[in-house]
Amino acid sequence: MVYQGKTISVALDDDQLAVMTFNAETESINKFDLATIEELRSAVSHLATLSHVRGMLIQSAKESFIVGADIRQFHALFANDESAIEAAVIDFNQVFCQLEDLPFPTVCLIDGIALGGGLELALSADFRVASPKARLGLPEVKLGINPGFGGTVRLPRVIGIDNAIEWIATGKEYNAQAAFDVGVVDAVVSSEALRAAGLHLIEQANAQKISYKQRRKEKTSPVLLNDMERIMAFTTAKGLVASQAGPHMPAPLTSVKSIEKSASLHREEALAVEARYFSRLAKTEVAGNLIALFLNEQDLSKRSGKLAAIGSEAQRVAVVGAGIMGGGIAYQAAYKGKHAVMKDIAQVGLDQGMQEATKLLSKQVERGRMSAADMAATVGRITPSLHYAEFADAQVAIEAVVENLKVKQAVLAEVEQQMAADAVITSNTSTLSITAMAESLQYPERFCGMHFFNPVHRMPLVEVIRGAKTSDKTIATVVKLAKEMGKTPIVVNDCPGFYVNRVLFPYLAAFNLLVRDGADYPRIDKVMEKFGWPMGPAYLIDVVGLDTASHAASVMAEGFPDRMASNETTALELLFKAGRLGQKNGKGFYAYEMDKKGKPKKSLDNSVEAIIQPAIKGSQAFSDEEIIERMMIPMCLEVVRCLDEKIVSCAIDADMGLLMGIGFPLFRGGPLRYLESIGIQNFLDMTNKYQHLGELYREPVSLLAMAEQGKSFFAQEENA
Ligand code: NAD
Repeated sequence: MVYQGKTISVALDDDQLAVMTFNAETESINKFDLATIEELRSAVSHLATLSHVRGMLIQSAKESFIVGADIRQFHALFANDESAIEAAVIDFNQVFCQLEDLPFPTVCLIDGIALGGGLELALSADFRVASPKARLGLPEVKLGINPGFGGTVRLPRVIGIDNAIEWIATGKEYNAQAAFDVGVVDAVVSSEALRAAGLHLIEQANAQKISYKQRRKEKTSPVLLNDMERIMAFTTAKGLVASQAGPHMPAPLTSVKSIEKSASLHREEALAVEARYFSRLAKTEVAGNLIALFLNEQDLSKRSGKLAAIGSEAQRVAVVGAGIMGGGIAYQAAYKGKHAVMKDIAQVGLDQGMQEATKLLSKQVERGRMSAADMAATVGRITPSLHYAEFADAQVAIEAVVENLKVKQAVLAEVEQQMAADAVITSNTSTLSITAMAESLQYPERFCGMHFFNPVHRMPLVEVIRGAKTSDKTIATVVKLAKEMGKTPIVVNDCPGFYVNRVLFPYLAAFNLLVRDGADYPRIDKVMEKFGWPMGPAYLIDVVGLDTASHAASVMAEGFPDRMASNETTALELLFKAGRLGQKNGKGFYAYEMDKKGKPKKSLDNSVEAIIQPAIKGSQAFSDEEIIERMMIPMCLEVVRCLDEKIVSCAIDADMGLLMGIGFPLFRGGPLRYLESIGIQNFLDMTNKYQHLGELYREPVSLLAMAEQGKSFFAQEENA
């Protein structure tokens, strides 16, 4: 052994072949933390003194190669000022440069994930060989930063400007074949053949059949482009990247600028450009929010993983009601390898459910993501039925019939009779009380809510709702099932609307008040979309359905009469009474027509103004800022109330729930991050301006106390 660290070891065999192995002592994966960078520095400095080495293979002893940088450590580094970050990054890069300059050929063997710093290390080697298991990419822009270990410098020199921009600005992951097609890797061979392929490349290099020195020259020199080519490449790319990323995500465009500025430079100067842009992005609020989001996801996944570990396995699920939701749930379960029996009272419902599943699967086949045989097997795992046959074999039932307490109670009691004695029963209700529903059951401890969002196959969140009598084991089993169905569960306590709908409705109530006071609803939509929401509130109501929204609003009004009930007629109600149900019948706040692809396309409908006129009482002019404040304050305050009442267990779940459940703007990090970005005291001052609007805008005392004590919602979690 010529070097032995806690993660990196380097062995030298009798044939003078060096093998560098990444195998983090105490972790299941390899990542670039600060200690690993220092180990790499020591190992490479030592290797640089060995003149007789004929080549080096770089490999991992883990399932993956190197998954990237240690985000938690780098997040801490970003607390420093810009120049300190820049200096640190330049220093790290010296290690990668030293590796690139070793006096013998180097080959990286990539068998598994090589993302971010993992791929940047591989790019510092002369050659790369990957197995079909490899996943490669530079996903830094998704964290609001650009690659910082030479990715924006080496990748364009290895695969050309256009390809490098595509890889870096989208942050996508690629498989081995896609990486080979553009030249990121030199060969794709089976995992078992990686070493032999690496050795072959070293022999070829030493026999001067391929020139590793020429490769190094290309990687360390300016990119060969004439002025015209340069203008063409970057002007088009900047326009495209800017429009795809939108105004709130600066990292993709900044990465392109970094590539552009450094393309004509030699390695060290080019790396200095990258470090400058990197440190600039690292200090943005967007990067802070996106990194926090990444860490929150990890935290949430760790906690739900612990819960799932004590849950029972559910290989067979029984879905009751084959409508929009039941059909989607059965599809998702079957897609993830479960067997699903789907029961409805109407054959037409079953037919629709199966048609929807077949349509979704056909799309997967068309896109080459699934074979026809897999599609047939998946459809085969769904059993449509008008009876309770096969319910006795299912471990979990998911009820998704109409949103009516009496009907649900009757259906649940029937289902309980059919299931095995230890089976778990859940309801996909969006608003009804889990505790009340459980009253019809013999074993309420084995019942809880399992709230999927529409469309089920696309929306990542599942709220797992604990009723007054739900057992811990039941929650664990449902969390496990949700995870196995590819979803992110958060466990919440029972209350009207649970967590996500409870905080959505104050936001929609704020919308009603704005319309009442004279704001134009298309304008409100525009302003809120500019703020970052995927759709404005009027458009959202149309997508949800005015019938559903109106029903849910009445449940919320009953549950929280002080702030969600109103004796004023709202625009939503008037439109609903006029028979406008939203996208589902082509008429809501907007009119909808199918485009060529069969997707509903919205347009303004002149008849709406007359219908909603009785709900409009004022003619105030609002600035964009006022619209944002009036819309966002009630939502954020309700989030705080949910934390106070322990409907959600922590700030991380509160933020993640809205990011995944209703598309809260990602770059804002969630409602509580947003609130803290304004500052709690500033937020309270802002809230003060709107006290005339009533209870929706009344701050909970806990928030006043937090402002007084200078506390953060996240302090505890970040120290954990
Ligand atoms: P839907 O009207 O599309 O489907 C309901 C289905 O239940 C119909 O096919 C109906 O035939 C069937 N049904 C009625 N009584 C039945 C019974 N006794 N036994 C078996 N089947 C029966 O409704 P949906 O939109 O799928 O909503 C279902 C549930 O999911 C509701 O509780 C709703 O609140 C909730 N939910 C809906 C959404 C949404 O956006 N649609 C989102 C989240 C949750």
